[in-house]
Amino acid sequence: IINPTWSAVDGYIVEQLLPKDAVLDAVLEANKAGGLPAIDVSPTQGKLLHMFAKMVGARRILEIGTLGGYSTIWMARALPEDGRLITLECEPHHAEVAKANIASAGLEAVVDIRVGAALDILPKLAAEANTQSQPFDLIFIDADKPNNANYLEWAMKLSRPGTVIVCDNVIRNGAVIDGETSDAKVHGSRAAFEFQGSHPKLTATALQTVGSKGYDGFTIAIVE
Ligand code: SAM
Repeated sequence: IINPTWSAVDGYIVEQLLPKDAVLDAVLEANKAGGLPAIDVSPTQGKLLHMFAKMVGARRILEIGTLGGYSTIWMARALPEDGRLITLECEPHHAEVAKANIASAGLEAVVDIRVGAALDILPKLAAEANTQSQPFDLIFIDADKPNNANYLEWAMKLSRPGTVIVCDNVIRNGAVIDGETSDAKVHGSRAAFEFQGSHPKLTATALQTVGSKGYDGFTIAIVE
């Protein structure tokens, strides 16, 4: 359900605070042309992710769930020249569209797209020697929702004290409070809350959001 006022206010925010951006507009056009679902973050959320990356002074970012690279580009733009964003995507066609979008944004030197199921790639990332000495500063989880708690577990292994972890789409139109649901995505949200609420090394909160993408929200956690 998308309330017209929420969309109109999102439009107002974009007009007031987000400069026109031909590259990001072209990304959304290319995603549409490529038949990708329009489930990218909204422009205001993309800018928020960009600002989180700046706030933590991120040099290394991990994203789980690339789609066409819209959120990838917002975050990668916050990195220094020698920064790195690794993004995981299981659909080869999504990854292909994302690769072209990332090249159009001039970010191919910064962004590394790994194609495959995230749960297969994450152990390899953990094994890569440099990960041990250079953990991720910001981790954005936005893939298959039933695996949220598994992704959070890997995020803990790939983090350091101070790492910020954002997990998207956890409110699900309010369905998150329905423990009896048969919806596996809602169970994924609830598992994310339970993981973050009980982990001794995480301080977390969540925000409900409304806007052009409807009623949803995200958790944000900091590793102690
Ligand atoms: N972060 C993107 C953005 O805001 O522009 C949107 C990501 S979209 C919500 C989720 C993506 O995760 C889809 O492209 C989907 O193919 C991918 N995905 C789903 N299951 C996955 C898995 N097991 N491993 C890796 N990627 C997966």
